Order: sequence, then structure tokens, then C-alpha cells
Amino acid sequence: MTSEDHGPTTLSGWGRTIRRRCEVRRPTFDGGLVEAVLDTPRLTVRGAGKSYGDAALPGEDAGDVLDLTAFDRIVSFDEGDGVVIVEGGALLKDVIDQTLPLGWKLPVVPGTERITIGGAIASDVHGKNHPGAGSFGQHVLWIALLRSDGTIAQLSAGQDADGFWATIGGMGLTGVILRAAIQLQRVDTGWMIRNRRRTRSLDETVAAMQAGETRQELDPERHVVAWLDAHTHGASLGRGIVDEYYGASTLDLPGAVAPFPENRSSGSRHPRSLPGPGVVTGATIAAASAARWHLSRSGNSQLVAMRSALCPLDRADGWPAAFGRSGLVQYQFAVPPEEIGTIHEVLAYLGTHGLTPALATLKNLGFGTAGALSFPIPGWTLAVDLPARRLQPGTMHPIDKLIAGAGGRVYLAKDAVTDPELIPLMYPRLPTWRRTRQRLDPAGRWTSGLAERLGLLS
Ligand SMILES: Cc1cc2nc3c(=O)[nH]c(=O)nc-3n(C[C@H](O)[C@H](O)[C@H](O)COP(=O)(O)OP(=O)(O)OC[C@H]3O[C@@H](n4cnc5c(N)ncnc54)[C@H](O)[C@@H]3O)c2cc1C
Repeated sequence: MTSEDHGPTTLSGWGRTIRRRCEVRRPTFDGGLVEAVLDTPRLTVRGAGKSYGDAALPGEDAGDVLDLTAFDRIVSFDEGDGVVIVEGGALLKDVIDQTLPLGWKLPVVPGTERITIGGAIASDVHGKNHPGAGSFGQHVLWIALLRSDGTIAQLSAGQDADGFWATIGGMGLTGVILRAAIQLQRVDTGWMIRNRRRTRSLDETVAAMQAGETRQELDPERHVVAWLDAHTHGASLGRGIVDEYYGASTLDLPGAVAPFPENRSSGSRHPRSLPGPGVVTGATIAAASAARWHLSRSGNSQLVAMRSALCPLDRADGWPAAFGRSGLVQYQFAVPPEEIGTIHEVLAYLGTHGLTPALATLKNLGFGTAGALSFPIPGWTLAVDLPARRLQPGTMHPIDKLIAGAGGRVYLAKDAVTDPELIPLMYPRLPTWRRTRQRLDPAGRWTSGLAERLGLLS
């Protein structure tokens, strides 16, 4: 069979806010894929569908979805040099399952391992170790890109560098990432050591994160993340829990512990949304946040399985369903290092406008990449989970303005709400990216809800 096409299907992003009725083409081999591409005038590439908003959905007017999940093979893995060649629809989880027990790990893993290689490159994803490891695209050696005319372009930093960096972070708008070669990183064990610090204010949180960042810059395996209790006010606003993880060596393990623990994560489920507003209400989250903060203790040297440390949300598949029928918006932004005040302002603004986040996490970001649409810039990134039922069109625009004014930007892979007028300010290299995209896709076949909503293409 060349393809498993579905009739009209309703799809959404992971946040379940934006829904689209569309035709889904799911080719199962190269010839079928090229045929699907040449057959369809407007196409949106989709991997695991874990982007929160409409990045992997077609626009409002038209377009089919090209589902890449049948292209999920690990083509080869060289245990000597750690280079893995993998198809675009394979999950990070598949790569980790195969390579971690052999002592090699993906250098960058976001908060879930259930995303595809194509999605990781197209969003140039980052982990909690960004200051030392950079983003996913920095570990990609080459990409085989299926263009809209059916030809395959081989892209790397030395071969069409413009096309390579327009594809990394290019949100699927330059073509299909068919295959990629990725440089893995050696690890001693599949364990990490966690040092935890409970903080009483944003100032304390920031100080702990900054101390961690100094260590992160010297160690690509050092991960730092802060959970913030957004339900506090005044001097305690921004109190939280700062976790710092580093790779455990075999010497750190008690005798009976195997160097590479078995992965216990279950398969991905798709729970039904709870009716009405769900269970994520201000009162339940405020109580849960206070309990989490009060019950946590500062402490060092806790041994944690690497995959649980890096992907805690893979144990919470039901999270978007808990927000009820209208779903959840995750709004993530980055601001430069000196703009920590903007983080405080955003939290205060949300709190005083009845939008206190159900979840707020703060990470350090290090150097950026050559990808014109790549999200990371040096500084801070805050992600807040908001019930979509509280947001009207334009609700977040004052915050967009604050962020753009501070020299920051929103993360396109999560976006569902940003003011399109501010995108050129947030992504100043957009015109350069458009020129390269136009060269790679002169027919203008690739599109998405995100691209149309934010005017990325023109
Ligand atoms: C629980 C959770 C935690 C997360 N944590 C993080 C985090 O810590 N850091 C971070 O950076 N991100 C994080 N994300 C966001 C996620 O990593 C990105 O949205 C990622 O792009 C999703 O990959 P996917 O395979 O699901 O792609 P999809 O959502 O299907 O698509 C995302 C984009 O990639 C494009 N695309 C997908 N496959 C291909 C392909 N083969 N060729 C070309 N384009 C393609 C699509 O067109 C779309 O623009 C998180 C998401 C979730 C749900």
C-alpha cells in the first residue's frame, strides 16, 4: 500500500484550542510521499502533533495535512562515532530506546520525548541544558529535504547553508524533512543527580538559576529548570523550586543499580477532554501549587532516571484534557538576560487580569543559532499554561507588546494567540528567511495555520 489516506478528519494541536477539519494524507513509502506532494497544491507537514497551537494544522481556507509518522525508521547508527541517521517521522523516544543503552544520548531533549525528529528540527527545540548544549539543530549534520517539486535537496552547514538554517526552526515551511543525521553525545549512565532548592521570591529563584547557568556553560549535560508558584503575590511572587540535574557517572551509582535503567514510560494515550471548564480552576491550582511548594524541600544528590528527569510531562498525558473542552494555551517567550524584570511584569499582569497560570516554568537560554526563525536567544524563557476559556482574541497582545519591547520573542511551536503585527519585530531576520523559503518552495505549496495567522510567508 502506498498510502493510508484518511477522509476528512478533525485535528488539533496538543493544546486542543484550534481545531481544523482537513484531509490527511499518510504516505507509507518514498514514491507515495512524492506523489502526495505533487498532487496537493497546499500542504501542511505534521509529525506527532505535539505543537500546542496550529503549527501542524492547515490554514482556515484550505490545505491537506501530510502525516509523516509512517517514516519512522532508524536508518543507521554508528556506535563508534555516535552518528544516527533517522527518518523524519521517527520519535525521539525511538532513538533514545535504541541508543541510550549503548551509552549515547540525544544532546537536546525537550520536555517530551514523544515528538518526531522532523518536528524537533522544524521547531529547533531546546531542552533544560540550552546554555551548554544549544538547540537541537546545532547537532544536526545534514538534512535530506523533500522539496515541493518532488526533488530531494541535501542540506548541511557546508552545502546550501542558507537552506539548512532556514529549515532548522523553519516550522515545516521549506519542505519535508525526510531524513537527518544527528551527532549523539556519549554518556556514562542513564541516570542524573538532582540538586533541589526551594526559593521564597523571584529574586532568589533568579539567583539560583544564574548560579546554575555558570555551571551549565561548562557542561552540556547540566540541566536547570524552575517551577514557579504563580499563585503568590507581592514579595513571594516568583517563589518556586529550582532543580539542577547533571549526568551521573558509574561511580555515583550504588552497587545494585544498573547503569542504564529500563524505561518504564507507557505509550502515548489521547484522553478525552473533560466536559465544560475541566478541573483546572483557579482554586484547585492555587491549592495544588501551595501544597507543592510547602511539601518540597531543598536537598542534594537525589538519583533520578535521565528520561524521567528530562521528560516529566510524559507522565501527564491527560494535562490538556484537564482544561476542558476549550483546551489550553501554552504561551512561551524569551527575553534577554537583563530583562528579568519583564518576567516579573508578565506574572504580575497575568495575576491581576484573572489569568494566573496553571503551570509556569523558567529556563536559562544560552547562545542562539543561525536559524532565522529559531526561538532561543540568550536570556530567559518563561512558559505559562493558561486555560483557553479565559482568553479572548487580543487578550495576550499587551504582553506580546511588552516582550517585543524588551527585545524578546514568542515561541512559534507553542503559539496560538500572538499579535501578528509584532512578529517582524520579534524575528528581525524574517525577510532573509522568506527569501530562502521562496527559493526552496517557489510553488508556495507548504503552509500552515500558524504561517497564515502570523503572516510568516509574506
Ligand atoms: C509536553 C510537551 C513538552 C514540550 N517541551 C518542550 C521543550 O522543553 N522545548 C521545546 O523546544 N519544545 C517543547 N515542546 C514543543 C515540541 O517539542 C514542538 O512543538 C515539536 O515541534 C513537536 O514535534 P512534533 O513531532 O509533535 O511536530 P508537530 O507538532 O506535528 O509539528 C511541529 C512543526 O514541525 C513541522 N514538522 C513536523 N514534522 C516535519 C517534517 N518531517 N518535515 C518538516 N517539518 C515538519 C510541522 O509542519 C510544524 O510546523 C513540548 C511539547 C509538549 C507537548
